[in-house]
Amino acid sequence: MSETAVEEKPLDVAIVGGGITGVTLALGLLHRGIKFKIYERADSLREIGAGIAFTPNAERAMQKLDPRIHQAFRKVATPNIEDYFVWVDGYHYNRSDPDNTNEELVSKLYVGERGFEGCRRQDFIEELVKHIPKEDVKYGKNLASVTDRGDGEKIVLGFRDGTTEEADVVIGCDGIRSKLRRLMFGEDNPASRPSYTHKFAFRSLVPTNKARELLGDYKVATRLIHVGPNAHAITFPVAMGALINLVAFVTDPKDWAAEDGKFTARTNKSEAVEYFAAFGPAVRAIMSLLPDELDKWALFDQRDHPVPTYVRGRLCLAGDAAHASSPHHGAGAGSGVEDALVLAELIGTISEAVARGTCTGSRRAAMVRAALETYNAVRYERTQWIVDSSRVAGEMFEWQHASCGSDPEKFDREIAWRSHKIWDYDVDEMVCNAHSQFSSSLEA
Ligand SMILES: Cc1cc2nc3c(=O)[nH]c(=O)nc-3n(C[C@H](O)[C@H](O)[C@H](O)COP(=O)(O)OP(=O)(O)OC[C@H]3O[C@@H](n4cnc5c(N)ncnc54)[C@H](O)[C@@H]3O)c2cc1C
Repeated sequence: MSETAVEEKPLDVAIVGGGITGVTLALGLLHRGIKFKIYERADSLREIGAGIAFTPNAERAMQKLDPRIHQAFRKVATPNIEDYFVWVDGYHYNRSDPDNTNEELVSKLYVGERGFEGCRRQDFIEELVKHIPKEDVKYGKNLASVTDRGDGEKIVLGFRDGTTEEADVVIGCDGIRSKLRRLMFGEDNPASRPSYTHKFAFRSLVPTNKARELLGDYKVATRLIHVGPNAHAITFPVAMGALINLVAFVTDPKDWAAEDGKFTARTNKSEAVEYFAAFGPAVRAIMSLLPDELDKWALFDQRDHPVPTYVRGRLCLAGDAAHASSPHHGAGAGSGVEDALVLAELIGTISEAVARGTCTGSRRAAMVRAALETYNAVRYERTQWIVDSSRVAGEMFEWQHASCGSDPEKFDREIAWRSHKIWDYDVDEMVCNAHSQFSSSLEA
């Protein structure tokens, strides 16, 4: 392809993977009039049957990325009875009153008006997908290779079905086991693969009416983390209060060794119940609501072997592909939305330059590289901190943290600053910084 042919065309953005990061990025680009294609290996854009909650910073990023993303979330977000995130002692209980499901308060943090609400993942993604033109998503596209043929030429994406596509920039939103990450850093590089956090989780959506009979009105109507030794559980309402998202975590000293290489394994209720047998009546009641058969999810992350950068030339990683985290801050998907915001803003600047005709020849590729380096500079430190802090939070919730142990006062101080560092993040300032760093890098 000649250089002139490339220059005449608008910028082409390839998004690999249509999870929350890929879809919100797509909407952010669409909102800014930028051409993109999502290449998704599955045959539809869908999410797993579980709940998800978004931290307040993530909601602000949604608003700025494309107000329709935030409207979509608000449409499916389930109200809680109070605007606090609450941690309770799920372990100790009064043995002379063994049916009493009261739990001692450990910590209570204000999340802002209707902050940190949950929804069913599938409900959210369905609302988002309504806004994406069908022709901009290609299904059954399992990324196998990327070839950068040099400035003035488009990057070639190769898929397992033997087809190829071209783009000016490739953004890997292909999740924790990202193929693009492996292509960027090499199959044998430890940073290419996530590692086991030695915790797994039982996950289910349980009927609220049954839970209410056992736990009363309050516990089914708000977000609670029930902490305890070497295990903990989180519950929050979804599906407009009809269901409760239940995730019960346990520490696992062994290695995760699923024969099929999957991060999930089929199990039964009795295994889950057994792990919480010594917990208080509230947690045992919650566990009794699990279905007879369910999946357990091994929690992997990239803390032990982080990628050194999210960017290589005109290729970059976003969301879990870049910085897969354990879920203890409930901030993984929200971080992906923040990534998407920075990428959409910077690519928007390049797209404007292309439209003005001031981004021709090798300058187009140079601008893309500079934008991605800026994205990396703005996003790396915060997202790596979240990966690390999430592990720390997981230890705190299971009384394994060296200085907090099971001390509620120490717990309260520690979880407050860590949570607020995530929730209070100024996404407007992040975007301003990204633009000014990008301008400076272009002037240099
Ligand atoms: C138990 C648990 C609870 C959690 N709770 C929360 C929470 O409450 N709040 C929160 O913010 N986060 C939470 N998270 C984290 C959150 O789920 C993830 O951070 C988020 O879903 C990642 O989105 P993503 O789009 O980056 O990746 P993914 O959702 O993994 O999407 C990747 C997409 O890429 C596609 N793909 C993969 N490989 C290829 C390929 N080779 N070619 C083409 N397509 C490909 C996949 O099919 C998929 O559609 C939780 C995680 C866990 C495990």
